[in-house]
Amino acid sequence: MRFVLLCVVACLVCDLSAAEPAAVPRVVLGVHGGAGVPRNEMTPELEKALCAGMTAALKAGHAALQKPGATSLDAVETAIRAMEDDREFNAGRGAVFTNAGRNELDASIMEGRLRKAGAVAGVTVVKNPISAARAVMEKTKHVMLVTQGAEAFAKEAGLDIVEPSYFHTEKRWQQLQDGLREEREANEKQKGTGLPLAPRPYEWSTVGAVAVDALGNLAAGTSTGGMSNKRYGRVGDSPIIGAGTFADNATCAVSCTGHGEYFIRWAVAHEIASLMRYRGLGVQQAADDVINVQLKQAGGEGAAIALDVKGNFAMSHNSEGLYRGYITTDGQITVMLYDK
Ligand code: ASP
Repeated sequence: MRFVLLCVVACLVCDLSAAEPAAVPRVVLGVHGGAGVPRNEMTPELEKALCAGMTAALKAGHAALQKPGATSLDAVETAIRAMEDDREFNAGRGAVFTNAGRNELDASIMEGRLRKAGAVAGVTVVKNPISAARAVMEKTKHVMLVTQGAEAFAKEAGLDIVEPSYFHTEKRWQQLQDGLREEREANEKQKGTGLPLAPRPYEWSTVGAVAVDALGNLAAGTSTGGMSNKRYGRVGDSPIIGAGTFADNATCAVSCTGHGEYFIRWAVAHEIASLMRYRGLGVQQAADDVINVQLKQAGGEGAAIALDVKGNFAMSHNSEGLYRGYITTDGQITVMLYDK
């Protein structure tokens, strides 16, 4: 199949073809690579790498969906695995570091027909946490397994196990060092004047995917290293069903990224579905209400992608950017980082 690739980044920064489509046709798979870095910190190299990473994930997920009997879960898992293997994203290989200098990964997946779900949290040796989440859903009676238990299960399930050093990347290590330094300076300053330094704008680059298959079944998944410099076994929204991930054929499939503590407290993914179910909102309206009204008022920064069974794809963010993209039934790909 011939892919027409549209890469719209701040007025076509990494444009690989012609114009944006006049109307959005039916989307079968959408992905995000996080709510982004502040625009003034973006480089052309990173833009290119992020566009390429999401494009590869969309192609892989779409190809998985073309196989006979393939489901939306296959598309979601395949797309997320591609981004977990790509060191540019904060998931799998490119995960951020904890305050203790470890990489602790979280992921979840859900399908919309029976609302089956699986999740893992705090894993340090599982190469592809999204596959572990799916295995929890399909091979256990549980929804979430954490830390060593999740790792023992992943080994038993025959998933790829790696050394913790597999997740060590220089970029994320430097990010932790910067965070630690800024924290020290803020503490010192606070003692002297009572005024903490303004916190550094956060870099969000968790990955996620939503898909619909030929049978009209939805699926959603999210995978992350969490927040850089996180402490004490902290777990964010990404592995929590209803917060970072949700899918229900009656409403939509959702994957979120952003300040996880807010996404948990606002049960963001479920809230988007609830607005569709109980207030009859469309998927974009529902996502905008939660992300750009409720969360924004509360000071929670981040974004969500959501897809309904008809292929209406919503991309909503109150952060400066949202790395996101989608592929339609005819194989047309669009990826974006910021708004114009
Ligand atoms: N939501 C993730 C978390 O709080 C972080 C992110 O989206 O980048 O763990």
